[in-house]
Parts: sequence; C-alpha cells; structure tokens
Amino acid sequence: MGVIDTNTYTLTCACGVQESLTLAQYGSAYAAGEWQKGKSLARFTVEWETPLNFVAPNVTAAKCNACGGTPEIKVS
Ligand SMILES: [Zn+2]
Repeated sequence: MGVIDTNTYTLTCACGVQESLTLAQYGSAYAAGEWQKGKSLARFTVEWETPLNFVAPNVTAAKCNACGGTPEIKVS
C-alpha cells in the first residue's frame, strides 16, 4: 500500500490568514484505497464530509478563527 493520490486544500481568508492541508489516498496498483479523514486546522474551523472512503473528502463549511469570515478554498 502506498500513496496514490493527494489533495491539498488551501484556505485563504480576506483578512490575510492562510493555511493549507494535504490529505492522501492510500492504495495499490490493483485497488484504490481509503482517503485520510479530514483534519482540524489551527487557523480555521472546518467541517468535513467524507461520503465514501474512496472519494476525496470535501469541506462543507469553513470559518476563519481570527475574524469569523468565510475563506476561499482551493483544492489542488
Ligand atoms: Zn479572517
């Protein structure tokens, strides 16, 4: 089992706060495996949705801890 895919989630708030998190999917050449579960961030309050283990987690809600604003989220 190795890392077969990664998603980097970058959250940027209008107040200047930015944080990014990378989640990995584990699997083999024969079978795609589980994604890591969404983690909590230091600078944002984030809610994750993981509908299925082999689908990348989604951010359903995020809030900046500094100003309460809603950050822009980029997944790459
Ligand atoms: Zn902010």
